Amino acid sequence: MTVQTDVQTFPLYINGQWQPASNNETFDVINPATGQLVAKVAKGTAEDVNKAVHAAREAFDNSDWRNMSPKERANILYQISYAISEHADELAYLEAISSGGTVRRIGGNDILQMVDLFQTLAKFVLEYEFSETLPSPPFPGPAHNFIWREPIGVCAAITPWNLPMVIATWKIAPALAMGNTIVVKPASYTPLSTLKLAEIISEVVPPGVINVVTGSGAEAGEALIKHPNVDKVAFTGSTEVGRRVMELSAGTIKNTTLELGGKSPNIILEDADLSIALPGSLFGVFLHSGQLCESGTRLFVPDQLHDVIVEQLVHLASKIKPGNPLDPNTDVGPVISKKQKETILSYIEAGKQEGATLVCGGKEIKVPGCEDGHFIEPTIFTNVTNDMKIAREEIFGPVLSVIRYSEVDEAIKMANDSIYGLAAGVWTKDVNNAYDIARKLQAGVVWINDWHMLRNDAPFGGYKQSGIGREMGKHSLDAYTQVKHVHTSMVPELHRRNWYGLLFSEK
Ligand code: NAD
Repeated sequence: MTVQTDVQTFPLYINGQWQPASNNETFDVINPATGQLVAKVAKGTAEDVNKAVHAAREAFDNSDWRNMSPKERANILYQISYAISEHADELAYLEAISSGGTVRRIGGNDILQMVDLFQTLAKFVLEYEFSETLPSPPFPGPAHNFIWREPIGVCAAITPWNLPMVIATWKIAPALAMGNTIVVKPASYTPLSTLKLAEIISEVVPPGVINVVTGSGAEAGEALIKHPNVDKVAFTGSTEVGRRVMELSAGTIKNTTLELGGKSPNIILEDADLSIALPGSLFGVFLHSGQLCESGTRLFVPDQLHDVIVEQLVHLASKIKPGNPLDPNTDVGPVISKKQKETILSYIEAGKQEGATLVCGGKEIKVPGCEDGHFIEPTIFTNVTNDMKIAREEIFGPVLSVIRYSEVDEAIKMANDSIYGLAAGVWTKDVNNAYDIARKLQAGVVWINDWHMLRNDAPFGGYKQSGIGREMGKHSLDAYTQVKHVHTSMVPELHRRNWYGLLFSEK
């Protein structure tokens, strides 16, 4: 890496080496809390994507990487986890200055989650059934049959700006665990921590196993998906771009997994313990200024508790302190950009226009010391109906829609009335009732009396237009393998092969 005045320049990371973009162009990375330029980053082209895919292809086809034993591979995953811990402060810093996430959250959760994911998958790799032997079948004839699970090949990971490192890890860790190689294209707002992560990982894997091409979605992202030597695409981002990814993948029939947007419903039942349900529901929606795909943005409350719930929510929301993400006392940082801030403010305006009642926040805030940052007050609307724009579209900002219900079945029906199905939640003291409701909710994860709690050994992903496939857990290892059936005949005599009679009528 080279240093220009105070601003670092980050090249592309290809084949274990830093290299500039083929046309030497760069783009700016801006701190969303201060508006300051924090880095210049190589703007990768289709030619650079081609180089990275070539390196990944070579490492897959012509090195020992894919043939390592599970023990060797688990050992590498453990080494990566220790290296991430050693670089925790630097990674958290790079992520905070570009994503606006607080160091408190990144250091106190994200890094630990990444370390734990590599270690969890290391354990899974040791137990993984790479080869399964089938019993000798009566039909069509005696044989020895295996099912082998093999790596897919060169994987492309395209990631969003909200949790850049964690989401890159959800793809990198299982890809490497199963012997694949990977090219990562991070979001243009937040490439820094992913580049650093690749450098750390490269210390323990052969060159070309992990590569990062920074650049725009339209050029670098599309070139990667269309590339004929890429075997799998793992995308996390908006549902709108996810549709485009699917279209492009279709050109070469790529194995594609999609983790997309959400509009997650959160149902408070009459018997809920409000002392937990209310801070829990705000935790569910305002963490990272509402920029989490699983945020519980639609809150369904029973008629008879509506007023008391709203009053307490407003009181609790007023305690959330916005500030510089690098300050450990900051509760929430900025939203990612001026453009995103304007989008969120336009949704707030739409809520007012459609007749919802703004009871908390709703405005941009100027944070002392961060006057050029993009901060928005935690915002709560009541009198929202499930057909309003603010209840249907993903806002990806700190906006909560409170929707009343009189019967629980009505709340479940409204909860499911969405194109999305990423997460859902229910708050009640009656756990059996919660399980009944969880069965009816159309979502990839259901939290009972909690939110945002993801385990590395449990799958995560969406129903409906929130995505295809699952990340984390054993499911994620399956997603980075392909299945081969190997048949060995146990019938050496021609006359016993009566199935040949399907073609030859004469004996
Ligand atoms: P985005 O869809 O705008 O961008 C995601 C990535 O796709 C970026 O790297 C971008 O450069 C790239 N991209 C954009 N256009 C492309 C194209 N035509 N071809 C290939 N790549 C392209 O999403 P975002 O704004 O970065 O992130 C926010 C979205 O991500 C939200 O919708 C959120 O719900 C979703 N998200 C989902 C999950 C999940 O696990 N389901 C997790 C986090 C974020």
